[in-house]
Amino acid sequence: DGEAITAEMVPELANQSFPLCMRNMQDTLKGSKHLKHEGRQQYSLFLKGIGLSVEEAIAFWRKSFSSITDDKFNKEYRYNIRHNYGLEGSRKNYTPKSCTAIITGPMPGPGQAHGCPFRHHSEQALTSLLHSTLGGTLANSDLKEILAATKSGHYHVACTRVFELQHAKLPGGASVPKGEGLGGGDSVDHPNRYFDASRKVIR
Ligand code: SF4
Repeated sequence: DGEAITAEMVPELANQSFPLCMRNMQDTLKGSKHLKHEGRQQYSLFLKGIGLSVEEAIAFWRKSFSSITDDKFNKEYRYNIRHNYGLEGSRKNYTPKSCTAIITGPMPGPGQAHGCPFRHHSEQALTSLLHSTLGGTLANSDLKEILAATKSGHYHVACTRVFELQHAKLPGGASVPKGEGLGGGDSVDHPNRYFDASRKVIR
């Protein structure tokens, strides 16, 4: 379904259409040229869900882990990527994690970037991620509203509001109004639904 996604398209798609959890991992990967195991699992299955083929996934991770040798990459990471695509080991068809699975999953420790920023970031770290994601479209009143929803544990409400703001002023004139959510008022329950809804609005 939809466009064929290549490794080179990922950073731009992250800016346009990824939810905060996946943007956070793309930023971390870009900054540190590495992601720890839990993060690789969460991000790699999400990328599989948006339509990255196994060949493109290997190209993406190889390029992203730019400070290691081919040999180390092939020994330590290639198998796991192929495994996530059901091509190694038990050949199970792994599916991308839902918000509930991510929110109730293992807590990220120091240096780890997996999880849900609404659930796992400090207020300060979440605020700076919101600023870098939304830039000028984030008014102070929006920020307050998002932080209040987050504090009361309504992470899906906060994430849905971010979706609306991220798509409030699209080039070409399309726009998602407040209350519309992912479409018809639906709120975010899965990072891949966030992505699919975004592509629908942008295209
Ligand atoms: Fe990601 Fe779901 Fe958290 Fe949004 S609510 S940041 S999609 S885990």
